[in-house]
Amino acid sequence: MQAEGELPIDVAPPVAQGGTDLDRRLVAALERAGHVVRTLLWRQAYANGLSPIQTQLLLHLVGKAQPPRVSDLAAEFDVSLATMSDALAALRRKELVRRDRDPGDRRSHIFVLTDSGARLADELAHWSDPVTGWLGAGPEADKAATLRFLLDLIGRLHDAGVLAVARTCVTCQFFVRNAHDDPARPHHCRLLDTPFGDAALRVDCAEHQPREHEPSQP
Ligand code: SF4
Repeated sequence: MQAEGELPIDVAPPVAQGGTDLDRRLVAALERAGHVVRTLLWRQAYANGLSPIQTQLLLHLVGKAQPPRVSDLAAEFDVSLATMSDALAALRRKELVRRDRDPGDRRSHIFVLTDSGARLADELAHWSDPVTGWLGAGPEADKAATLRFLLDLIGRLHDAGVLAVARTCVTCQFFVRNAHDDPARPHHCRLLDTPFGDAALRVDCAEHQPREHEPSQP
């Protein structure tokens, strides 16, 4: 695994380095939005005596049908095994997370929320309310188009190796883009056998299965 914060060397953007002025302003806007989101999450974390990664871990473990191992979580959060092990150890000391034997491999362990961890995660889930409150006033069509654009960007960054894990529809082997003539529901999920539109694209799907070496389609 690459070191934290270090991009892999095989990243090859389709357009010359630097991009257009619009591209650069889009990146700046994403950075500003990311800063707001991070700040809200950090505030919530520190108010509860947690680090940001501990907070994200608690939120991530909510309702997981298949509790993850430390290696799954390190890949998910793009951090080293040592960093993830430290964060999990801190949560175990606070009795918010429990370590169990992996029923599928007795040599490994899985991590699940304790009852108090689940209660705290419920409270933490409101960290994004200031942002979702503003988004709620926006036009649905704009939000759906923005979601698709961002997921396509994430899909390309994933294909390029910048992002290790992306359980989104656009990186899923069951996703068929523009399979139907219905403009409201043009896409199809072959697993759920259902048509759906941009607004229903999933960002973190439990049923996701990665595609094999097939780049995201525009
Ligand atoms: S399985 Fe999930 S991620 Fe894959 S296409 Fe269906 S809804 Fe999307």
